[in-house]
Amino acid sequence: MIRKLLRRVFKRTEPAAPAELAIIPVERHGLHREQLSPAARKVCSVLQERGHTAYVVGGAVRDLLAGQTPKDFDVATSATPEQVRESFRRSRIIGRRFKIVHVMSGPETIEVSTFRAGQNAESTETDEHGRILRDNVFGNQREDATRRDFTVNALYFDPTDETIHDYHHGVADLQQKTLRMIGDPRTRYREDPVRMLRAVRLGAKLGLSIDPDARQPIREMATLIENVPPARLFDEMLKLLFSGHAVTCLKQLREEGLHHGLLPLLDVILEQPQGERFVWLSLDNTDQRVRQGKPVSPGFLFATLLWHEVLAAWEIRKAEGEPLYPALFAAMDQVLEQQAGKLAITRRIAGDIKDIWALQPRFDKRAGKAPYRVIEQPRYRAGWDFLRLRAESGELPMELADWWERFARAGHDERAAMLEPETDGPARKRRRRRRKTPSGSAEGAASE
Ligand code: ATP
Ligand code: MG
Repeated sequence: MIRKLLRRVFKRTEPAAPAELAIIPVERHGLHREQLSPAARKVCSVLQERGHTAYVVGGAVRDLLAGQTPKDFDVATSATPEQVRESFRRSRIIGRRFKIVHVMSGPETIEVSTFRAGQNAESTETDEHGRILRDNVFGNQREDATRRDFTVNALYFDPTDETIHDYHHGVADLQQKTLRMIGDPRTRYREDPVRMLRAVRLGAKLGLSIDPDARQPIREMATLIENVPPARLFDEMLKLLFSGHAVTCLKQLREEGLHHGLLPLLDVILEQPQGERFVWLSLDNTDQRVRQGKPVSPGFLFATLLWHEVLAAWEIRKAEGEPLYPALFAAMDQVLEQQAGKLAITRRIAGDIKDIWALQPRFDKRAGKAPYRVIEQPRYRAGWDFLRLRAESGELPMELADWWERFARAGHDERAAMLEPETDGPARKRRRRRRKTPSGSAEGAASE
């Protein structure tokens, strides 16, 4: 009890204690400047020549030390955004509240940010839960390190002398495979609840275990995620789902109690018995594609994640006597609307999702002219990939997906031979009539 109390008191004072800078030489960390992108090196050297300090920082240093390829390179510097802007011809200042500079060099864009001040009462505006709304004051490197989230993210690599400036034992934590929060985890989660999702994602991506002090409060603080603006949450979900470790991340989220009642999408994914196999198959498929460097599309993934919701809503409408296609379009809108409050699925992505869903019932028809029109659809390939996943999950016979694959590849005569005989006349007429009227209006309703 007393020890617990003491630990608490000490932890409270920890953030205030000055962080001790360790300058770690290359022999001890093994990261060489050649491992950086040419643009990252150039940006640092130009800024240094002009008398500023400049380091590669954050995710890139962390990933390289962990033996992974960084997505991009960020630079932190003592130069102000205006000074950075003046140092590079192809650069522009972005952001209104806290300005950062994008420096373009060859095909790369380097994000350059000026050291930021620590988060303290004077410079920081928060909401009633302690979530930071604004902190836009420049600071020194030490302060910049302290406002970062995890120790492994607060490493500054100087390409010139190949040292790492480490204020929070990040190099040691990385070597010990631990994800540790800088400062008091509860305070840091309150300031920015997205850090809980980042903990799970970075842990999974780098194979780090979340330090018990940072892990334990997540369960009780999970509901704070509700206060995060939807657009930010959506960005973070995309990062998580396309991290190449989505399966691990989502299992971990479920374990940490981070999914429940927070994101309708996650509830759908992790709590639906019917579509579970389909959803995990799809996530696994996405992970493999990301790791192989193949393109992945948010529209496709979200379409799979929400498909069984659509199926359920569609069934109800059909049972109530609504015709096939209008019922489907209405079900699609209903499901997307349920997500809209929490996850700001952009219009474009919603359009992609609907295209994929709308193609599905058309795969049932293997007679007449319809199959020729289906394979000419611009989204046919995505629609077929989706069909195949449905078959793999056991929702449909694999034979159907195989048939379409053969049909799409076949020559003229072979195609004709593959078609099934037309069903009886009245059904055909009914279908024609249906197509004439609602296709336009259904689309109209869908894009509301
Ligand atoms: P990745 O690029 O793999 O998604 P990352 O850690 O680089 O991971 P970014 O969003 O690119 O993530 O952020 C760059 C750096 O900014 C981080 O390494 C960290 O130091 C800091 N940072 C990012 N988000 C936060 C946050 N929510 N709270 C505190 N610091 C953050
Ligand atoms: Mg990054």
